Amino acid sequence: MRVAGQLGKLMSRISRILILGADYAGLLAALNLKFKVPELRVEVLRAPIADDFRPPGFATRIEFPTYLHEELRVPPLEFLRGAQPIWRIGTRYQWGSRAFFDHTTEFQVDTRYAALSHETGYYIGDGPNEFEAIGAASANISAGKIFVRDKEGRPQIARNRYGYHLEHQRLNEFLEAATGRMEILFRDGRVVEVVRGEMGVASVRLEDGQTLTADLYIDASGPESLLLGQALGVPYCDFAASLPCDRAIVGMCPRSNEPIKPNTAVKASDCGWCWSTEHESFISCGHVFSSAHASADQAEKKLREEYPKVNSTRLLRIKQGRYERCWEKNVLGIGSAAGLVEPLAAAGAGLLAFGCQWLAQSLVDCDGVIRPTIIRQFNRRWSKLIEGERDFLGLFYKYNTRSDAPFWRDARSSAHVGSLEGLIRFYQDVGPHPVHRNLLLAEDDPIGLDGYYSVLLGQNVPHKAWAPPPAEMQSWKNIQESWRRRVELGFSVQEAMNYFASAAAVAKAGAMA
Ligand SMILES: Cc1cc2nc3c(=O)[nH]c(=O)nc-3n(C[C@H](O)[C@H](O)[C@H](O)COP(=O)(O)OP(=O)(O)OC[C@H]3O[C@@H](n4cnc5c(N)ncnc54)[C@H](O)[C@@H]3O)c2cc1C
Repeated sequence: MRVAGQLGKLMSRISRILILGADYAGLLAALNLKFKVPELRVEVLRAPIADDFRPPGFATRIEFPTYLHEELRVPPLEFLRGAQPIWRIGTRYQWGSRAFFDHTTEFQVDTRYAALSHETGYYIGDGPNEFEAIGAASANISAGKIFVRDKEGRPQIARNRYGYHLEHQRLNEFLEAATGRMEILFRDGRVVEVVRGEMGVASVRLEDGQTLTADLYIDASGPESLLLGQALGVPYCDFAASLPCDRAIVGMCPRSNEPIKPNTAVKASDCGWCWSTEHESFISCGHVFSSAHASADQAEKKLREEYPKVNSTRLLRIKQGRYERCWEKNVLGIGSAAGLVEPLAAAGAGLLAFGCQWLAQSLVDCDGVIRPTIIRQFNRRWSKLIEGERDFLGLFYKYNTRSDAPFWRDARSSAHVGSLEGLIRFYQDVGPHPVHRNLLLAEDDPIGLDGYYSVLLGQNVPHKAWAPPPAEMQSWKNIQESWRRRVELGFSVQEAMNYFASAAAVAKAGAMA
């Protein structure tokens, strides 16, 4: 009877939403809700946190620009001018037995050239430098370029085929300015008490004694998960058994005259991995590591070896996992309040976009009256999505043979690839073939066959051998060479930025218009 009562009450129309947390997770949720359901009363609670620190810059995959420009309808040029992102076309991983491989935003191995009888993946040999110039993006990355030039001399930017490097501060400022135009209410104050009720959360009390209530509470409070985890006590599924990194040393290098790279850089270390993301005036970098295998001092030493110009650093804890349900009663968790995986594959912003978009869409679909089915489906989709990201990271841990340090021996043996077992077996038995794409991938899989095969081929995971005839191999070498020549004439990141900064570019900005 009690459950029926709760469900019945949840079915009353939602008109007031309180968002706890005003980092970009909370701001995006507010914008998305107001954009889709303008009549909602959306209030965002912000609290300055003493000694607050987040990585100054971060990377997103293609899901984030697609979400921003297609779902929220933020014009790309407006975003470029306001938030000053830098495009990224992939990550170059110094990982596995090769010198490097790339996971790119453009298709590269799940492609087929007219002159060849097989998909591109079949032509990539196992030599250390063979995962290079296998498509426009990898050739661009090697040449330090970002976009090829179209016939009119403009940067050729394929719609929805790029990610961003974003500055945390600038993104927040851009989003705050956008919320200011949308009748979103802000309130300053720290939550000191959460009062529970039959529906989940009954109210929150602020430091100054005010009590706030809402029909639906969005928990965007970060890893503390004040409402979902702490107040409602939703159980936590810890990913630590298969994703062993639990700390990050984070810093930044002021930019001098080094060219801006078109890619995120990742390099495996003996106790985790180092990364860098590219920003206009600095390079954000860090070392994600396992505290069971290295001390913070050792991890910092490694970071400084890789990035000698890094200034002061901060140690962050990383708790990887997800809450069993991200939507519980009248609370929906988004961002790391709901779950987190390490940023090895830049999944965070896409997961966040999913939460914001599907909440707003759910309210539209059910006319503001949330039914239990909606909550159940939402939770199922969310868990599938974040577990898919965990399994994708499992590929990196299971097959990295670059180091035999104790950390990697442990990581390889405890890696979890879950839903990807079938895809891996198929790849091993048949090769990087697309024939069973629909069977191997879940609907809306954000990585795609191209991503999985790139990471398997990139790490030289063996697959059924096929020796291309010499004439085909020569055609493949010619194709690679033509990519190298084509990108030589392309735009570097700085040249592309200059292009879009000029007034003339606005009228002929192609995909950026
Ligand atoms: C080392 C590292 C690297 C990362 N790199 C990437 C990357 O490359 N790409 C990517 O997509 N993601 C990355 N992430 C994840 C990303 O930083 C987070 O997803 C992002 O910060 C989203 O914010 P959040 O959900 O973590 O909330 P937070 O940023 O933690 O914000 C929480 C908000 O809640 C508010 N709050 C907290 N307590 C209270 C209270 N009591 N009362 C009122 N308000 C309160 C705070 O003021 C704050 O505004 C990385 C994370 C880490 C740790």
